[in-house]
Amino acid sequence: MRTHYSGEIKPELDGKEVTVAGWVHEIRDLGKLKFLVLRDREGFVQITAKKDTCDATVLKAIDSASRESVIEVRGRVQKNSRAPGSVEVIPENISILSLAQSPLPMDVTLKVDADIDTRLNNRFMDVRKPDVSAIFTIRSKVVRAARSYLDSNGFIEIHTPKIIASASEGGTNLFPISYFDKEAFLAQSPQLYKQMMMASGLDRVYETTFYFRAEEHDTRRHLNEVTAVDVELAFIKDEEEVLSVLEGLVLEMIKAAAACVKELGILKKEITVPEKAERLTYDEALEMLAAHGKKIAWGEDIDTEGEKLLGEVMKNERSTELYYIKDYPLKVRPFYTMPFSEKYSRSFDLEYKGVEVSSGAQRINDYGLLVDRMKALKLDPGNFSFYLDAFKYGMPPHGGFGLGIDRMMMQMLELPIREVVLFPRDRHRLTP
Ligand code: ATP
Ligand code: MG
Repeated sequence: MRTHYSGEIKPELDGKEVTVAGWVHEIRDLGKLKFLVLRDREGFVQITAKKDTCDATVLKAIDSASRESVIEVRGRVQKNSRAPGSVEVIPENISILSLAQSPLPMDVTLKVDADIDTRLNNRFMDVRKPDVSAIFTIRSKVVRAARSYLDSNGFIEIHTPKIIASASEGGTNLFPISYFDKEAFLAQSPQLYKQMMMASGLDRVYETTFYFRAEEHDTRRHLNEVTAVDVELAFIKDEEEVLSVLEGLVLEMIKAAAACVKELGILKKEITVPEKAERLTYDEALEMLAAHGKKIAWGEDIDTEGEKLLGEVMKNERSTELYYIKDYPLKVRPFYTMPFSEKYSRSFDLEYKGVEVSSGAQRINDYGLLVDRMKALKLDPGNFSFYLDAFKYGMPPHGGFGLGIDRMMMQMLELPIREVVLFPRDRHRLTP
């Protein structure tokens, strides 16, 4: 049984008996000396076997262990200033727990960097690389920070169905599935359900959830299966309260990532925690873009190129990487978005380093207005009766947002989205 991880093998343990376990990272045979580098989730430890003093069965085990085999080593810790970390383990017994076949499907010693497809095809092995496992350790800390921020701000975590009967937003970007004798879809977001919960009295809810999006993207920042933190809160005065919850949440997530000092060191990355999220209006954003040579017609969405340029301008001229674009034209937002004049809506996107990480808004809570907006957007209220019912018998003012976890990870670590998702689903990839 393992008694220590590699990270716990320190010179101070000199003379102590330990059992370490993990993968054979490397073997070097110098004739009189054999070095075996064992890797586990914390790093590496050198196992040093001297031909004259070591048991024959130990030497035999080292000879028969192929690279990436799983072994368990019982031995004594020895201080040695020439060993990595000034410490090594002198083996007394080595058990081969699982012999790895060869050749290996990819190299995990970082000497050769495999292409992303080979890596994703062999993800179980790719994650053995310390720089890849570091990403998922950080991801776990970031998600935990998100939950803990929301929990301590009075939100409760809910789970809503991912198999649904009709589109949440009337879009066509849904994956159809067969549900016994009916047609059904994978949910593109928990939007309608979390809003219905605002009529339940629970006031503040969130879900860490999947979004399924059937869009044929081929970009660094889109996948077809997405993870997100989806939040809704009631009894708000306007969208400002929603903005401040999102700001608090995102800052906590960035702080949690920035605190992963060891993992960021392995990844050779630094994360700067912004002090706050700046605020821009959609009209101001368009003016700033126009001043830098990018014209967007009023009422159009800001395209990828525009978002990127705006990210650069905000960084150079206002020294900020995190900012809201508020007050979007009503016509580019979904039917449930609260208008605040003929043309504008109480909606926003949160941009981080020139990429959208979240969209949100105050929602319509008046039944009549909601039905009117559906009709204006050519949606049939009859298809949404289960949702509309929740607005007939007491629905408080409310708002919320969806924040992409994958997007946050990719922007914090400045990596393409496929790097921060264990088993990404995209236009061409359905396995593993
Ligand atoms: P975009 O305009 O960037 O394609 P969107 O406006 O379609 O995104 P929303 O419906 O607003 O996305 O979803 C809320 C959040 O979920 C986004 O801000 C983003 O963080 C994340 N998200 C949505 N779609 C995707 C996707 N296909 N891949 C990765 N993340 C996504
Ligand atoms: Mg959006």
